Amino acid sequence: MRFSEKRVLVTGAAGGIGQVITKMLRAEGARVAAADRNCDGVAADAVFAGNLLEASYADRLPVVTAEALGGLDIIINNAGVISRGPVTETSDADWTLSVGVNVEAPFRICRAGIPIMAASGGGAIVNLASCWGVNPGPNHALYCMTKAAIASLTRCMGHDHAHQGIRINAVCPNEVDTPMLRSGFEQRGFDPQSAIEELGKTVPLGRVAAPADIAEVVLFLASDAARYMCGSLVEVNGGKSVS
Ligand code: NAD
Repeated sequence: MRFSEKRVLVTGAAGGIGQVITKMLRAEGARVAAADRNCDGVAADAVFAGNLLEASYADRLPVVTAEALGGLDIIINNAGVISRGPVTETSDADWTLSVGVNVEAPFRICRAGIPIMAASGGGAIVNLASCWGVNPGPNHALYCMTKAAIASLTRCMGHDHAHQGIRINAVCPNEVDTPMLRSGFEQRGFDPQSAIEELGKTVPLGRVAAPADIAEVVLFLASDAARYMCGSLVEVNGGKSVS
């Protein structure tokens, strides 16, 4: 029960990785506030459905979580969107969506959450970046840029807020078997299951990550076992690095 009595905000809690993070945290004693556009079917201790593109919603999430759960110890900025293609195929709407969800929302949530955590002696924040935020992959220019931005923000916040007892780190996965990955195959006309099996052959460990493979590392960074880690970007890639 590593998270007994801990009060946690998880964004993207209805998504592939977010659902598993939420379930694992609660199984280890945490009380979790789930945030997503639609939280139907998500078992949590508080639910705040909304759109992270709305500034007031993102700004308020840490506050309403602390009010609902009696404090705030951990934030998992997990929500994310992917846009595909080079910049010449990137629309204004893609820009607004990707920068808004992947960068601006976690910025707003951290800005509001850090003072709450500092006032009660500290806490931990884990951001979901991507290995493509460390080294960019092809044909996903905007996605890679936003993930590099959240990775950089994580490193900055990691050293800026360590003195307040707040540890801020990021997990950087390679491909994970979630709706985000499957929808990309569907849009390109592939059968998602066989495409994921083929993709698994390109991973030295022999398979694409399952959501739990990533959630385990998120929980580690949020736990006291990672008590000396601040501003780290942890790649979780099955041996498949992007260079
Ligand atoms: P997912 O699409 O299954 O889940 C993402 C969740 O974010 C969804 O439930 C969605 O509703 C929520 N979300 C998106 N836009 C929102 C908005 N405007 N307001 C509120 N909620 C919103 O994706 P996932 O694979 O579970 O991704 C989780 C995180 O992991 C993301 O940050 C993603 O970029 C990152 N990641 C995923 C992969 C992968 O291959 N799946 C690889 C590297 C990093």
